[in-house]
Amino acid sequence: MAKSVAIVGAGVSGLTCGVFFAEHGFQTAIFAEQIGQQTTSGAAAALWFPYDAGPADKMVPWALATYKVLVDLIKDSRTGVSMIELRQYSRASEISIPDWAHPFVSTSPSVISSEAETSLDISASAFSSGFSLNVPLMDTTIYLDYLADRFQKAGGAINEGVHFEKLEDVDPKFGVVINCAGIGARDLVHDVDLEPHRGQVAIVPKIDNLNCAIVCDDAPLMYVIPRTSDCVFGGTNEVSDNLDVDPTSTSRIVAECSRVLKIDKPRVLNERVGLRPFRKSGVRLEREKLRDGRTVIHNYGHGGSGFTLSWGCAENVFEMVT
Ligand SMILES: Cc1cc2nc3c(=O)[nH]c(=O)nc-3n(C[C@H](O)[C@H](O)[C@H](O)COP(=O)(O)OP(=O)(O)OC[C@H]3O[C@@H](n4cnc5c(N)ncnc54)[C@H](O)[C@@H]3O)c2cc1C
Repeated sequence: MAKSVAIVGAGVSGLTCGVFFAEHGFQTAIFAEQIGQQTTSGAAAALWFPYDAGPADKMVPWALATYKVLVDLIKDSRTGVSMIELRQYSRASEISIPDWAHPFVSTSPSVISSEAETSLDISASAFSSGFSLNVPLMDTTIYLDYLADRFQKAGGAINEGVHFEKLEDVDPKFGVVINCAGIGARDLVHDVDLEPHRGQVAIVPKIDNLNCAIVCDDAPLMYVIPRTSDCVFGGTNEVSDNLDVDPTSTSRIVAECSRVLKIDKPRVLNERVGLRPFRKSGVRLEREKLRDGRTVIHNYGHGGSGFTLSWGCAENVFEMVT
């Protein structure tokens, strides 16, 4: 069994795999161009909720395994993980509750129809139906640093500013390579199945009396996610590689979220853009041989669910290696 592992990527996928391997006694090093906050992962809110990824038959078990781990992390306030009520709304008259969601549903659609009973008065005309779930929320401003810290405390090393043209360029002293390059896998392993699903969010100050997350996936996509010290307003989802902030999108996002919350438009503290690594044939979690004979485990293509699938996928990667 190889005891030295190199992980390419320091977003949520790479860091979570790193923790898994380092805590199981592997000599583990992460190599990445960017780490934590600068990655796509740093642009996410991030709620536990399977969205914009596949395949469904694998995604659900990965998501459920992740849910369990996250619930445990809530006990430690330093993780940035908390439990939140997620109100999933639709502008269509009848929203359907996915099968996987039933264990977590706290309110039926008929209850949240127009008059939401949050302490904030949500615009009654904004949505037609919805349901409510209790889900983990990872405050990425805290959670990614927590993962990096936990990884290093377990003996792992993080090497920032390293760009690989190909996986064979990873130091041969590492017997196994884990590819957690997100959208970067398009160039790294020439995966034409990957598609950048661009997401833009606006960070605004904390909203008084807002104690739940509000999401509507129907166009125009909108979500409001209160975090420890601010609030995330979203969002967009379009096929694009453009990492520049689009001021028109920010205005649209802030206007729609404020309309739903029935508040004056708040000032914008920050804007973030990230490329969800969507893969048309679903998350790639598989073993391959590199040209130099080493084993590589690919773990990328998590689309809009990288956080939601992170621990389930890391466990699966670990099983493939061991
Ligand atoms: C606006 C927005 C909101 C989102 N909200 C949620 C949410 O609520 N819940 C949820 O579960 N998900 C959410 N997502 C999706 C989630 O952010 C992604 O699925 C996740 O970040 C993917 O993580 P990753 O670690 O696989 O990739 P990334 O975070 O992109 O990390 C990739 C890493 O690989 C490195 N890398 C790439 N190529 C190379 C190379 N050639 N050489 C060296 N290093 C390389 C990068 O520098 C980086 O460190 C959201 C995404 C966006 C954009």
